Amino acid sequence: MLIIDENKCTGCQKCIKVCPSEGALVIKGKVVEVDLNRCTLCSACVSICPVDAMQIKRKAKTADTSAYADVWVFAELDGEKLKPVVAELLGKGRELAENLKQNLAAVVLGRSLEIDKCLDKLAAQGADKIYTVADEIFADYSTDAYTYALSSLINRHKPEILLFGATHLGRDLAPAVAANLGLGLTADCTGLSINEEGLLLQTRPAFGGNVMADIICPNTRPQMATVRPNVMEALAPEPERTAEIISEKVKIEEDIVRTEILESFFSDDGHEIGIEEAEIIITGGRGLASKDDFSLLEELADALGGIVGCSRPIVEKGWMPKSRQVGQSGKTVSPKLYITCGVSGAIQHKVGIRNSDIIIAINKDENAPIFELADLAVVGDLYEIVPELIKVIKSKT
Ligand SMILES: Cc1cc2nc3c(=O)[nH]c(=O)nc-3n(C[C@H](O)[C@H](O)[C@H](O)COP(=O)(O)OP(=O)(O)OC[C@H]3O[C@@H](n4cnc5c(N)ncnc54)[C@H](O)[C@@H]3O)c2cc1C
Repeated sequence: MLIIDENKCTGCQKCIKVCPSEGALVIKGKVVEVDLNRCTLCSACVSICPVDAMQIKRKAKTADTSAYADVWVFAELDGEKLKPVVAELLGKGRELAENLKQNLAAVVLGRSLEIDKCLDKLAAQGADKIYTVADEIFADYSTDAYTYALSSLINRHKPEILLFGATHLGRDLAPAVAANLGLGLTADCTGLSINEEGLLLQTRPAFGGNVMADIICPNTRPQMATVRPNVMEALAPEPERTAEIISEKVKIEEDIVRTEILESFFSDDGHEIGIEEAEIIITGGRGLASKDDFSLLEELADALGGIVGCSRPIVEKGWMPKSRQVGQSGKTVSPKLYITCGVSGAIQHKVGIRNSDIIIAINKDENAPIFELADLAVVGDLYEIVPELIKVIKSKT
């Protein structure tokens, strides 16, 4: 809540000029007054006030934590399939649930046909319960409909923990639910565990990856986190496992959806899938002499059916978009095949590729650290090796 000290306010109106919410601050007599229904607590006025007359008091909402139980995983659908990160979340969710001696549940929103197709997989990957809400309104993602449905389920069933993949959708939905219900949220976690007090310890890189921050949300429930894809380990599926299916009804009026999808198009790098989901990645580093030389890697990627990634300096030079950066401050990947060309193998790059099945490194320096991780080390000039590789692959296909 914004509190204005009438004794300090001089009526200078500097706060009114910077306030982005029209009518939230008005001059009444000689002092400024606030309309609390319009104020968004942005604190622009607090910063500008020359006499410290304004103060924002935020009260943490404390939940009756004993009423909350179970670990939930938001099971994001991609058409008729589950996003790969869902299996990873269920793997980590199982560990957390067992630690807390609670159930692990998956929550899936979609159309009946899509939901039916994923139930067995969710059970096989570790879910004890599966909450479903089937509605045609979920055919296309909308923040409003998904937030409304998920918030309703949370209010009904009171989960203790709720995990989302840090996908495009998860990064949109999780904060919307958190804001809607007044909850805490930790974004882009790379580690999750239960601490001695039974709270979810959420670890994520902060300050550009220079420190790892451990975060807890002691006051609100559920404790919510988005989790980086390809970091947690999925359990081996157990096809004979079964789960309790709980079909929920949530009445969603169409007019709560404030957006209309006019056109869908691919992300800034022109690829249908993100680099986190690619099965073959060809990554270029500072060993490439120019932006144009990345066409050589594109040619190799096309020949193999993969996509091109890069190290951080390449993004800093503006040669590739940030969405293609692999590593600690970029994307964590887990492809079947990862080929590096002119990448030295700094620790910040290596942490992002550890889960790759096979790594082939091409580097002209035989002592390059990337070779410590590589399954196949190719010592030589990428400008000689890559064209030869393309020739061989093309001759075989
Ligand atoms: C907080 C923090 C976060 C970071 N996050 C990331 C991250 O997410 N991802 C990331 O990649 N980096 C990250 N970095 C940067 C990282 O430390 C390295 O600086 C970076 O990975 C080096 O990129 P590179 O391997 O392309 O370049 P270099 O280290 O310069 O290596 C170039 C390599 O190319 C080889 N080479 C040169 N010419 C040829 C040729 N013709 N043929 C074959 N080989 C050749 C050289 O022998 C050399 O080994 C981060 C750094 C910090 C401090």
